[in-house]
Amino acid sequence: MVRAEGVRKHFGKLEVLQGIDLTVERGQVCCLLGPSGSGKSTFLRCINHLEKVDGGKLTVDGELVGYRQHGDKLHELREREVAERRRDIGMVFQRFNLFPHMTALDNVTEAPVKVGGVPRAEAREQARHLLDQVGLGDRAGHYPAQLSGGQQQRVAIARALAMKPKLMLFDEPTSALDPELVGDVLDVMRRLAADGMTMVVVTHEIGFAREVGDTAVFMDQGVVVEAGDPRQVLVDPEQERTRAFLSKVL
Ligand code: ATP
Ligand code: MG
Repeated sequence: MVRAEGVRKHFGKLEVLQGIDLTVERGQVCCLLGPSGSGKSTFLRCINHLEKVDGGKLTVDGELVGYRQHGDKLHELREREVAERRRDIGMVFQRFNLFPHMTALDNVTEAPVKVGGVPRAEAREQARHLLDQVGLGDRAGHYPAQLSGGQQQRVAIARALAMKPKLMLFDEPTSALDPELVGDVLDVMRRLAADGMTMVVVTHEIGFAREVGDTAVFMDQGVVVEAGDPRQVLVDPEQERTRAFLSKVL
């Protein structure tokens, strides 16, 4: 579903991604770990067309990110085409970015109606179902300010799912939450994974990564230092840099 070969990205002189190689198969959960500034968010943003790749090859579901192939020629995607591709990818950020002036139900209903052209009644019914799934069926009429951080984050997940994405990206979805709220969000993600969703998750929740991840990828300074079975990479890593990092987060 996601294939990166030598993906490079720089901001000015700063080489943020220095040749990332990584593969996420359909239905798999890839957990991405690494120190602050190692390029994790930048890589996720590349997958979601929020950043342009400067070098290497990045494909999502077989399509080159940012380009469309015509014969053997590559054409840069127009904005509208980018938006179309981005629809298939759900993203959940560290900070809950719900629309503050809309109820939970309206937050989840908005995109399918406005972007997807789904009739409002149908979108609302689907949104109720999604809110039920994330355990917030009884909070549909609440505004973000009336919800806890963990509840807001679960609404954000429901909102992303409303577009029926084929890939979900999570960028430290629980790191801004009070500790007692983390579990509910991870439970929702765990269920999503069990339902077969393909997911790339930046997280420092080692327990989650070990239990739910099909692969764990440790990044440092814009490269993949070590990747493989989470029960290997996160328990008995081969690389000293991975070991040093884990000893800090555990
Ligand atoms: P964290 O764990 O703190 O979220 P990260 O691994 O997600 O870190 P990135 O956010 O990808 O790291 O940032 C990698 C590097 O790229 C950092 O040095 C950051 O300052 C830099 N960077 C990110 N976005 C930009 C930008 N738009 N312009 C310039 N530099 C940027
Ligand atoms: Mg980040």
